[in-house]
Amino acid sequence: MDNYRTLIGLKADEIAKALELKKSFQGRQIQAWISKGVLSFDKMTDLSLETRESLKDARIASSTVCYREADPASGAVKLGIKLYDGFIIEAVLLSDSEGSLTACLSSQVGCAMGCKFCRTGTMGFKRNLEAYEIIEQFLFLRGEGQAIEHIVFMGMGECLLNLPSALEAIAYFHDQLGMSHRRITVSTCGYVPGIKALAAAEVPVKLAVSLVDADQSKRASLMPISRRFSLSELKDALLAYQRVYGRRITLEYCMLSGINTAADDAAKLQSFSMGLDAVINLIPFNEAAELDFKTPSSKEIKAFTHELDRRGLHYTTRVSRGRDIKGACGQLASKLEEQDDER
Ligand code: SF4
Repeated sequence: MDNYRTLIGLKADEIAKALELKKSFQGRQIQAWISKGVLSFDKMTDLSLETRESLKDARIASSTVCYREADPASGAVKLGIKLYDGFIIEAVLLSDSEGSLTACLSSQVGCAMGCKFCRTGTMGFKRNLEAYEIIEQFLFLRGEGQAIEHIVFMGMGECLLNLPSALEAIAYFHDQLGMSHRRITVSTCGYVPGIKALAAAEVPVKLAVSLVDADQSKRASLMPISRRFSLSELKDALLAYQRVYGRRITLEYCMLSGINTAADDAAKLQSFSMGLDAVINLIPFNEAAELDFKTPSSKEIKAFTHELDRRGLHYTTRVSRGRDIKGACGQLASKLEEQDDER
C-alpha cells in the first residue's frame, strides 16, 4: 500500500485490518457503503456511534470532488476531482434517452497522444492514475444517487498506456461491484501493443477504437499515434483481438467538417471495416475555442450517413450529451489548465 492509498478498492477483510476494527463484520458494512458511493463514515448509519467516532480521523478516499457541473437538459454531470498531489481530473456521468447511466472515467492526468481534435490532447501528459484513483471517480459518480449501468474508459488519457491500473480497477468493478465485463468499454486511439496486451489479459471487456479517419496519411496528420502504428497494423491487431474474444468492436468516428465526411472517406471506412465485426459510432465533433475544427452541419452528416447506408455499413450516431458542461467526447481538460498555476 502506498502512502496515499486509503480504503478504496480494498476487500472487506482488508478494510477491517487497515482500520484495526474489533469486529470483522464491520469491514463488510463499510465495504458495502463504499461500494454504493458513500464515502463518509458519518453517513454509514448501521455503524454504532462509538465506531463512527473512533473512525473520524480515518480517510476513505485519496481524492476529493472540487467542482460539479450539471447539464439538466441532457442529465449529464461532470465532476472535477482533485488528486492527492493537487492534479485535477474529470469524470462524467452520462444519461441516454432511456435514462440509463454511463460513467465515463479518466485513466491518466492529461494525455501524451496529442490527437489534434481533442482538448485533453492539448494538455500534455502529467502522470498515470493509480487503480484506486480510477475507482474513486466511479464511486464519486455513484454517490450522485443512481445506479450506473455502464463504464467507459473514454475520459482523459489513453487507457491502454495505463493498462495495469485499468485492469485492477476493472477487477474491482467486476468482482466487488458485480459489473459485467460486457458493460465495461475500454477505449484506445490505436495503441497496438496495448490492444495485444488486452487480448493477452483475457478480460473480456468491450473495445472501442477512435478511428477518426480511414486514410493513412490523413489519420497520421490528425493522430500522431498513426505514424507509429499504421492503419494496417491496427487492423491486424483488431482482427487478432476479435479472434480471442469474438466481441464486436466499436469504431469511433469523430466527424470533422470538411475533413473526413466525403464520399471517398466513406469508401475508405468501408474498406477498413471489411472483415471486422464492427459497428461505426459517428460522433459529430464538439467545437472548442482552442481547436480549429468545425462541427459538420446536419446536411453534411446526412450526406455521409447516406454514403454509409449505400455501402451497407452498420453505424450509430451518438447524440452528444454533456456538451454544455464540456463533458462531451474530447472536451475534458478545462480545469487542468488552471491547476498548474495552483500547484
Ligand atoms: S482522443 Fe484520447 S488518446 Fe487522443 S489525445 Fe484525446 S484523450 Fe488522448
